[in-house]
Amino acid sequence: MWPSPISPLPPSSPYWGGHFRAGPEARFVVHDPWDGRVIAEVPRCGHDEAVAAVEAAVVALRAGPPALVERARWLQAVAALHEQHVEALARVITAENGKPLAEAEGEVRYAASFYRDAARRLPELEVRRLPDRPRGCTWEVHARPAGVAALITPFNFPLAMLAKKLAGAWAAGCPVVIKPAEKTPLSAMALVHLLHTLDLPPGWFNLVTGEAEAIGRAWCAHPAVRVVSFTGSTAVGQLLAAWCAPGVKRLALELGGNAPLLVFADADLDAAAAELVSNKLRCAGQTCVCANRVLVQAEVLEPFAERVQRLLREVKVGRGDAPGVQLGPLIDARGAEKVRRHVDDAVARGAALRLDGAPRQAGGTSWGPTLLVGLDRGALIGREETFGPVFALGSFADEADAVDWANDTPHGLAAYVFSGDRARLQRVAGALRCGHVGLNTATGPTAEAPFGGVGLSGLGREGGLEGVLEFVEWQSTPLGPGAEG
Ligand code: ADP
Repeated sequence: MWPSPISPLPPSSPYWGGHFRAGPEARFVVHDPWDGRVIAEVPRCGHDEAVAAVEAAVVALRAGPPALVERARWLQAVAALHEQHVEALARVITAENGKPLAEAEGEVRYAASFYRDAARRLPELEVRRLPDRPRGCTWEVHARPAGVAALITPFNFPLAMLAKKLAGAWAAGCPVVIKPAEKTPLSAMALVHLLHTLDLPPGWFNLVTGEAEAIGRAWCAHPAVRVVSFTGSTAVGQLLAAWCAPGVKRLALELGGNAPLLVFADADLDAAAAELVSNKLRCAGQTCVCANRVLVQAEVLEPFAERVQRLLREVKVGRGDAPGVQLGPLIDARGAEKVRRHVDDAVARGAALRLDGAPRQAGGTSWGPTLLVGLDRGALIGREETFGPVFALGSFADEADAVDWANDTPHGLAAYVFSGDRARLQRVAGALRCGHVGLNTATGPTAEAPFGGVGLSGLGREGGLEGVLEFVEWQSTPLGPGAEG
């Protein structure tokens, strides 16, 4: 039984068909990102367990989708489970991801909001009758569940990324198979323990942990899986898309970004600096909506940099579960190495390192706030997501230059624009190629609105009605003689 006051981490077992399973003997370990300590051993499932999980979901699918009122009840119940266990779930997130506890609690509530919002969308899935009679028939339009949905999630929001997918899938009536990230499988496991207490019919949620590639391939190849919903790197998204091509499966891919944050000379610099800092510190800068390139109009670069520096000096860095910590460690030493590569490259290209947050010891993961001023347009930071608390400020001359630099990436997920001129804000938003543009705000997505990318940042949307429709197949039924009720 989890949560238990004695063991804060959930027992690790794969789950399908309504039962926890022993899984294979092989295990992989989960680390505390702060000190590298092993905190759990988790079954290393592969192809066979992945297929067994799908077969369990097929049984659920055969029984037919629950009525809309029933789906609403499930979704509300999942949201309530999150809300009743905010602290226990947050402790699991912090243990395996490293983010500060207050942030993890925010993630749990954020996750709950996706289930609540999906429940509110269900009336949109009622059978619709066309008002006229084309071809001499009454026509109905049904929102049918697409089939089994495979959900593959990343380490940065272990519970919220799952919520974005599971809420949409269940609203549409699709049973799911879940594979959490190897670095953070415990939050999803904890949720499965909670879902188990709801006594839902077997097969609606199934979870395997282990060999990412073997599991991904098995699901993309399985004919019953009709939707693959994935959040993670572009490289893996491309692999999944290729594996899904022969089966012509639906794909919802939320891939990496390279978010620009534009600050025009007429912006409120204090507000823009504060928004940037809160945006970039979330999950230690390891989110796909973190501002990766901060582009500042040349005449305000210095005053803006000073404001950011002042705010960063106050940031408390430490273990995620220590009181008052605002910035936890990076997920692992590999992540820290990537940040180091980006910082070294920017400095080699002429940026001034005004604050150096590099870990003191080799292999360390605790990267403090880092401020670079004078980012060169050709820097690595402009090409890849840094995934660390690096504030990289470059300068632009005018609006056309700013838009050109901001769009100089094959990615297009999030962007932010700060200006005192409303017409400019709207104009620039229209010119930016990305799915989310904050205007005088650096807030990320919300459950109520569709979120997703363009270009190499992905396909499809999560949140809002659009996030539910990713899992729906529309079926039109013209009613011939005797078919009309
Ligand atoms: P991140 O940088 O967030 O770790 P990844 O794309 O590597 O991004 O991982 C996101 C998810 O994709 C994780 O659940 C991971 O296990 C899974 N994954 C990684 N490699 C593969 C692969 N070759 N096939 C299928 N899934 C994969």
